[in-house]
Amino acid sequence: MFILIYVLLTLFSLTKAISEHPILIVVSFDAFRYNYIENKVTPNLLKLRELGTYADYINNVFPTKTFTNHHSIATGLYAENHGVVGNEFYDKDKKQTFKISYELFHYDETIIPIWRLNELSGRNRYSGSMMWPGASFEYQGKEPTYLQKFEPESNWFKRVDTVLSWIEDPKKPANLVMLYFEEPDVHGHAYGIKSTQVQDMIQRLDNISMYLHERLVAKELVDKVNVIHLSDHGMVTVTPLKFINLTNFVKADTFKTACTSPTLHIIPNDGLEEDIYQRLKNASEENGHFTVYKKDDIPSRWRFKNNPRVAPIYAVANEGYAFHDMFKISKYYADKFGFEVTNTSEFGVHGYDNQLPSMHPFFMARGPQIKVNHKVPPFNSVDLFSLFCAILNIKPSRHDGSYSNIEGVLMGYHGSMLPIIVIIVGGVLLALLFIICIAAVTLLFIKRQQSITTVAALNKRFPQNLNHSGIEAQHLLENVDA
Ligand SMILES: [Zn+2]
Repeated sequence: MFILIYVLLTLFSLTKAISEHPILIVVSFDAFRYNYIENKVTPNLLKLRELGTYADYINNVFPTKTFTNHHSIATGLYAENHGVVGNEFYDKDKKQTFKISYELFHYDETIIPIWRLNELSGRNRYSGSMMWPGASFEYQGKEPTYLQKFEPESNWFKRVDTVLSWIEDPKKPANLVMLYFEEPDVHGHAYGIKSTQVQDMIQRLDNISMYLHERLVAKELVDKVNVIHLSDHGMVTVTPLKFINLTNFVKADTFKTACTSPTLHIIPNDGLEEDIYQRLKNASEENGHFTVYKKDDIPSRWRFKNNPRVAPIYAVANEGYAFHDMFKISKYYADKFGFEVTNTSEFGVHGYDNQLPSMHPFFMARGPQIKVNHKVPPFNSVDLFSLFCAILNIKPSRHDGSYSNIEGVLMGYHGSMLPIIVIIVGGVLLALLFIICIAAVTLLFIKRQQSITTVAALNKRFPQNLNHSGIEAQHLLENVDA
């Protein structure tokens, strides 16, 4: 009987086990634009905002592409430092284009994504990735403890349930899980951002968000698990009349391209760099809807150009425009979803300048370490890394973000330390002033006492009969007046 009770108790305690470390789930909705939240179809996300902290939007990194931004979120580095300079890149030494692959995510072996850093930061720390872009490859020779590789269209409820099972694993409870959803990106690309298909996806994501939080409540984990909801970039609608065919200006067999609209790395055939640049430059001035850069002239604020993977020439379409690769891409979506491409068909595109509001993602967070009913100013995607590290209580590795930009999200932080320092220093100064005043008054009193004592002592030794001298003086005065 005792053995049975012991076994049952042990089993019970094992099934209830969660990590001894702070727990964090990072949920990403691909291409969920910051202002989709304002939409009437997201009542649950609006409710979650009130239960935690949110920012109106995040300043993401250039190019505003999926792999680039997910890797910036995971590493805290800009594209020029993590090397994922687009969804693909051309390796000029190997003369080969790398699409999603180990190579794309391994520009620099010393870069440690958050799920590796978590596991490297102490015992019993376990990370999981549910389809997070870039997390299915080894870093520093290891995959995360829990790994589900990308399976498009796989059941969303199952994704959430699996994540929670990792967190409740009796032997290796995960304390960090990266959870990815490929929508509303896919339907946004196929139908444009205003489509009912995108609205449906936003609504589904709103519901799956609430499902996750309701499961946490039901499992009594809501006070133990921090959840961050975010996305990588926004999206805009482009129609085929706004596809710019660069081969109208430069012969198709004189250059290669890497990446996809609206940003193209242009790799000229040997010896043609200047010629192709000039032709594209003239075309951009004529056409007026795209910009072409020599590598060195790419804006520094994009934190993009200082990487060997960036091609010698780089073309960026204006917002709402795209290049000729979109003829093929639009056909792909038309075939996938069974419709005809017409001049008025709408497609979604992202990758433009990261300063454009249309490219901005959203942010909200809820959990035991997150302030309730609180709003913070917009911050940078690269700052998220230090937020993750602060929540997980681990020391950040090299990154481009700033902790001071995100500390307002965290419980226990009530603004700048400056007022407190001013109060302490002011208090000390006032106390010093008070002591000096007291000392001065005391000194004066002692001096006075000393002089009284001295006069009394002199009077005693050398009696002067001073009382009479007063009367005598009065008497003398009366005489003069008279
Ligand atoms: Zn996309």
